[in-house]
Amino acid sequence: MSLLPESIRVIERGWLSANNIVFHEGSSATLVDSGYLTHAAETLALVDRALEGRTLARLINTHSHSDHIGGNATLRRVHGCRILVPEGMAPAVADWDEDALLLTTAHQQAEPFEFDATLAPGDALEMGGLVWQALPVPGHDMHALAYYCATERILIPGDALWRDGFGVMFAELHGDNSGLPAQRRTLEMLRELDVAVVIPGHGAPFADHAAAVDRALARLAAFEQSPERMAKSAMKALFTFTLLEKRRMKRAEIGGYFGQVAIFRDVSKRFFGREPAAVAAQVIDELVKAGILIEQDGDIVARGH
Ligand SMILES: [Zn+2]
Repeated sequence: MSLLPESIRVIERGWLSANNIVFHEGSSATLVDSGYLTHAAETLALVDRALEGRTLARLINTHSHSDHIGGNATLRRVHGCRILVPEGMAPAVADWDEDALLLTTAHQQAEPFEFDATLAPGDALEMGGLVWQALPVPGHDMHALAYYCATERILIPGDALWRDGFGVMFAELHGDNSGLPAQRRTLEMLRELDVAVVIPGHGAPFADHAAAVDRALARLAAFEQSPERMAKSAMKALFTFTLLEKRRMKRAEIGGYFGQVAIFRDVSKRFFGREPAAVAAQVIDELVKAGILIEQDGDIVARGH
């Protein structure tokens, strides 16, 4: 995208894998985020092409979710790159705590990896010949960092801000009420930044930062007023992610799946006071009606996959 400096390559992925951002640094390069595990080979090929002959020296994560760290182990094996992670996520990675990493609770996959150093809020780092500041953006993930380049006015917010919204509020879903207030503080902090281009965790880079923050704040206000609405939206997003990974599931088995996987089961009870199967039926109906999922011969399929 022409709004970005020459040294930055954005590899736009879909929703199962987060975007990959490659920074050219002379004969070497840095990568931000590595996609989902099942896409690791594709990520490797895409990153190789974007390196344009350079060595991948560093891999930096915005946060610990499976769609951002899934290629870490593969990329390190192949390139021997150093890995830097936000300090808040370091203990969960070091202990490979699959609950804290939301892998077991959301029935997702990732491969354990080692890291070399951590990044703290306020740290300055150089990527692509530019100076970036690590900013705390708790909410969607309580330990997430955004990276901001003041001279070029570029923001890399991970899943704290998308063109239309932000990532699921996992803390609230797990019964911790600190997620929404943190997301509000995060968005209010981001609103004050001078930003020309946002490179989000998912979706294309975009220029209208202020409008995106306003949309995110409006969505957040709706969630603050109605926890059920927040939970419904999260169930839809998480189930769509599940189907992107599994590609298809028998409709008759999805109620049972909601009953088995902690996040679907617990949210069904906590926010709706209903049996997981009943919540599953409603989530499927609404996603099919919205055209996000398709019903085919008794299977539910993610659109375009
Ligand atoms: Zn995320």
